[in-house]
Amino acid sequence: MYLKNGRFSFIFFLYFLCFSLFAYSSDSDSFVFIDDVVKDKNVAIFFDENRNIGEIKSIDKLITFMIDCDFVLVDYKYKVDIDYIKFREGKIVIGPIMTNLINDEFKNNLMDSYRVKAIVIDPGHGGRDPGTVSQHLVNGIRVREKDYVLEIANGVTKELIKKLKGIDIIETRSVDKTLKLKDRSDIANNIKVSENEVVLFISFHANASINSRAKGFEVWVMPSDINKDVLTEDQKKNTDSDSEMILQDIISMQVSNESNQLAYSILNNLDKNIGSYTNNRGIREEQYFVVRETRMPAVLIELGFLSNLEEVKNMLKNDYKKILINSIVLGIIEFVEDYQE
Ligand SMILES: [Zn+2]
Repeated sequence: MYLKNGRFSFIFFLYFLCFSLFAYSSDSDSFVFIDDVVKDKNVAIFFDENRNIGEIKSIDKLITFMIDCDFVLVDYKYKVDIDYIKFREGKIVIGPIMTNLINDEFKNNLMDSYRVKAIVIDPGHGGRDPGTVSQHLVNGIRVREKDYVLEIANGVTKELIKKLKGIDIIETRSVDKTLKLKDRSDIANNIKVSENEVVLFISFHANASINSRAKGFEVWVMPSDINKDVLTEDQKKNTDSDSEMILQDIISMQVSNESNQLAYSILNNLDKNIGSYTNNRGIREEQYFVVRETRMPAVLIELGFLSNLEEVKNMLKNDYKKILINSIVLGIIEFVEDYQE
C-alpha cells in the first residue's frame, strides 16, 4: 500500500509529463466521443472523474487511460502513445489514434461473463469477544452482538447455499469461537480465483449508541479515496513500477465501485422490507480493518442497534429475523445476477 500523498504527487507528475506534450491539437472534426467508439463492442468503461483515470475493459483486454495524458496502458503491461483524450461536458472525447487503438484492441472481442467464485460470510466477534452487549433485558435475554450476528449470518448462509448453486458460500465462523481480524481476511484472500472471477466479502455486525433512540441499519464500505493493496502477486510481477501505481488506482477504484453496488443492493432490499420498522441509515465509509485487508468487493452490514429497546424487541422476533435474512439474501443475489450478466 502506498500513501495518499505519494499518489497525488505521482498524478501531478503525470500531468506535468502529459501537458507539455499536449500543447498542440489537430483537426477537431476527427475527434469523437469515446462512448460512440465502444458502443458496438462488448466492453465496459469505468471512469473516475475525481482522478481523471478510467479503463476500457473486456474479458481479456484492458486499456487504462488518463485524461490529458499522451499514452495509455494496455493490459497493465505496455504503454501505447495516443493523440488526444479529454473530458468535456461530462463526456470523454478522443482523437483518431486513440480511436484506432480501441478499434484494434477490441476488434473481435466478446465480453465473456464475469463470475462470482465465492461469497465469504463473516459474523463479527465471537468466542472471547462478545461485541456489543445490550443493556436491555428482553424476555430474560441480554442480547450479545456475537450471538445475534451469528444467527443472522448462519441464516443468510443457509439461504445462499440453497439459492446460489455453483458459488462457494464460506463462513468465517459458524459457531461461537474467537477469530482474529486477520483470520477473517485470510480466509477470504486465500481463495484462488482466475482473472474473471471475484470473491465477495460480507461482514455482519450490530450497533450501539449512547443515544438510546438511535436505530436502524447501515452498510459500510471502504472510502473510495483510500487504496487497498488489491494487486495480486501475479499482477505485480508483470508490471513495472510506474504502471503499478496507476494499476493499483484503477483496481481499487473498481473494487470500490463494486462494493458500493453490493452495498446499495443490500440496503435497497432492507429498506423495502424493514424500512417501515426502522431507519435506513444509508451507506457509510470507513476503513474497517477486515474490509481493508481483503482484495475484493467487501461490505459490512450493521443490522440494528442493541442500545435501542424497541429495536432489540424486534430483533428477537423470529418473523423479523426471517425478513432481515431474506432481504440481505435478495440484495446479494441481485448483485450477483447483475455482476454475472
Ligand atoms: Zn461489531
